[in-house]
Amino acid sequence: MVYLDNNATTRLDDAVLQAMLPFLKDEYGNASSTQHRMGRKANEAIQKARIQIAQSLSASDPSEIFFTSGATEAINWALKGVAERYTSLGNHIITSQTEHPAVLQTCAQLQKRGFEITYLPVGRDGLINLEDLKSSIAEKTILVCLMAANNETGVINPIADVANICQERNVLFLCDATQYIGKTDTVNLQNIPIDLLCVSAHKFHGPKGIGALYIRRKRQPIQLETMIAGGQQEKGFRGGTYSVHNIVGMGEAIAHSAETDWRSIANKRDYLEQELAEKLKHVAINGEQHDRLCNTSSITIKHVLSSELMSQIPDIAISSGSACATGTRDPSHVLLAMGLSPDDAKCTIRISLSKYTTDGEIEQTIEAIVAAVHKIRSNSPTWMLFEKGLLD
Ligand code: PLP
Repeated sequence: MVYLDNNATTRLDDAVLQAMLPFLKDEYGNASSTQHRMGRKANEAIQKARIQIAQSLSASDPSEIFFTSGATEAINWALKGVAERYTSLGNHIITSQTEHPAVLQTCAQLQKRGFEITYLPVGRDGLINLEDLKSSIAEKTILVCLMAANNETGVINPIADVANICQERNVLFLCDATQYIGKTDTVNLQNIPIDLLCVSAHKFHGPKGIGALYIRRKRQPIQLETMIAGGQQEKGFRGGTYSVHNIVGMGEAIAHSAETDWRSIANKRDYLEQELAEKLKHVAINGEQHDRLCNTSSITIKHVLSSELMSQIPDIAISSGSACATGTRDPSHVLLAMGLSPDDAKCTIRISLSKYTTDGEIEQTIEAIVAAVHKIRSNSPTWMLFEKGLLD
């Protein structure tokens, strides 16, 4: 199988697996049982991972990193935790129409509890307009929540500008960096005044079921309500026995991601896009006008349903959108927000590469997609009408 669905999840790095194995086998102590050597060893391993993550993000202090089960939990915690804690300051949250369901669904829950949510629109390039953001910030705004990079198109938001606007206007900024971290140079939290930021290990060759929320504690420490009540883990903010092996894996994975050759991944992605555009007629690359993650390609192939295309290429793992939206028949909310018609959105595939993707796999993918598209179009009355200019 050629695996090109790395925005859904990634293969575990071998070095990461090796670092995790001792904690799945002999070193099984509970990291909170620091009265004995095994517990202390687990505890030290967690502290090491916390340092690796803090260093990778240039956070001021490892104590600003809080472990969660993944980005979805971190986002829920940050949004609900801020909403509850800062209610006396206001009830307004700003986000965008192209966020991940973890953000959109949590905002919908908050809306039911009386919070006001502004969903900023995006342009054809997938970007929000910074002037829209500025004019949406009101007296009662407590939080802006925006993704660093979009999971479907890879489009990168100007998060430094967003962070500066939020700082000037005294509004908190939560950055969903789930797709960004491990797919490009990391975020430098010393230079960008982000207040809250989430990451997820399985997006950068770490294990599934582990993520982290960075909470700025130095400049004007941020107070969040506790999401998971329990023991004193994570300073009492997030109870539950530590998943030591996963935490160790996440620390190793983030440290290794700095070694990735982004240019080489981008070259493979660009070659794939050029070849498909040349060999197939009426192909559009969504978000190509702007900075994108080096590994991501969102391609609309006119009058070829992504579901039909994928069923024709069973040995190539790609996706029709985000993994979290799979199962819904609706066209992608991200592509609709960018102005694509529902028909074009349904004819869009997402191809996402990784450091493991080879030139041979790219060739195999081009060949398979080109053959499948020709076959589908040659049997399609819609395509024939379109070619004759009788259909849009
Ligand atoms: N945010 C974005 C942008 C994502 O792409 C994803 C997962 O695809 C998430 C959040 C949720 O991450 P997790 O799988 O760690 O819950």
